[in-house]
Amino acid sequence: MATRVVSLSRPQPMQQSLGRSALAILTGLWVTNRHFMRNLWGYLRGKPTVFTVQYPEERLELPNAFRGMPVLVQMDNGKERCVACGLCEWACPTDCITIFPAETADEVERYPAVFDINLSRCMFCGLCEEACPEEAIVMSQQVEVCGYTRRATLWHKEDLLVPVSQLGKRLQHLRRGYDR
Ligand code: SF4
Ligand code: SF4
Repeated sequence: MATRVVSLSRPQPMQQSLGRSALAILTGLWVTNRHFMRNLWGYLRGKPTVFTVQYPEERLELPNAFRGMPVLVQMDNGKERCVACGLCEWACPTDCITIFPAETADEVERYPAVFDINLSRCMFCGLCEEACPEEAIVMSQQVEVCGYTRRATLWHKEDLLVPVSQLGKRLQHLRRGYDR
């Protein structure tokens, strides 16, 4: 059987890679300069085109659906809304909630004598909020929860209580499905 031989002229591998590399470098420089000039022009006109938040001096307004650290709702009479049923403790996937219930002579009869959240283990999933039948634990917009020691990340009931008046938007968000 006759064999047909085809000859091709290919660029030398070295020449090819040098040409492509130079093109890639020039493209990258062009993109960088284009952004630089656009941002500089925006800055000079007083209309910055860069979306940079100068935290902590500047802060973004977070949406109501945002989940920061869980907090306990404090009613207008100063007491916690929690009835120490333990559902949030049971629902928490990282076991970071500890509750010791106690009894009171009040109408609600039970309250948490101890309510601790270990924020070094909390993953801000919101399952405690979902499980609570009393809207007593809600996800806040607080995210600055760091400490220099592990003990500092253990938040007690007194630290977790937030007046109900400051949690209105989150409570509204939780009730968004009730009217459908
Ligand atoms: S947000 Fe999630 S991990 Fe954190 S306390 Fe609630 S259930 Fe536990
Ligand atoms: S926060 Fe809610 S779910 Fe957790 S113990 Fe209190 S009432 Fe029960």
